[in-house]
Amino acid sequence: MQTSVMMSDLTWDEYQRRIEQEDAIVLLPVGALEQHGYHLPLGVDWMMSTYMARRTAENVGGIVVPPITFGYRSQIRTGGGPDRCGTVNLDGMTLINLVKDVLKEIVRHGARKVAVVDGHFENRFYLDEACFLAIRELEYAGITDARILKMLYAEYIKPETLEKVYAGKPYPGLDLEHAGILETAMMLYCHPEHVDMSRIADEDLPNFPPYDMFPGHQDWVPESGCLSPGHAATAEIGKLLVEEFVDLVTASLKKEFR
Ligand code: ZN
Ligand code: MN
Repeated sequence: MQTSVMMSDLTWDEYQRRIEQEDAIVLLPVGALEQHGYHLPLGVDWMMSTYMARRTAENVGGIVVPPITFGYRSQIRTGGGPDRCGTVNLDGMTLINLVKDVLKEIVRHGARKVAVVDGHFENRFYLDEACFLAIRELEYAGITDARILKMLYAEYIKPETLEKVYAGKPYPGLDLEHAGILETAMMLYCHPEHVDMSRIADEDLPNFPPYDMFPGHQDWVPESGCLSPGHAATAEIGKLLVEEFVDLVTASLKKEFR
């Protein structure tokens, strides 16, 4: 049997051995099942967070738990909204409880160094709450030495990398980067068989007001569901971004756990 960093590939006793004898860091990727325009698949957010977690695990002696493939509700101004066919939205309470339960199980099985790798912008505060509640409930149960690192892997991009990616044009921000250059380029590098560049629409940037409406105005969102155009994406740009993110997540885990 080959060694793998993916928890699903391991037997229970091999998983236990790596936790107990090798002090493995356990990584939980979280994403979403969400529309990403006509040119990217519904799974981008969990596929990319799982990729980041796997590459990082290989660098730090980690094990990757199967991803949480559903995320918090897609928002009009950051993900195109909850309404499009195929976008499967969890209520905040559901995501908090789901992630909290998984984290507590990971710790109950012996791991004390845990990382949550987020690939879906809208998850952020719900994952904070899940981590906080997991630690608090573990402390109430007498386990006081567990630590959880949580990270939205794409949150920090070096200015010089942004300069290269956007070729002098302004970075629209991570909220408008839904199915735009960043995600398209990363998918071209990591999962090119799932990208169809010919289907990127020619659309104007959305002109969102500084507030949200409930029910949401779906007509605020471009027809394709993309919030910024991905035409300029290439696999080389994707490599630049992905390798930078892998280095950043790796360095973060090493700083806290190694
Ligand atoms: Zn996405
Ligand atoms: Mn998303």
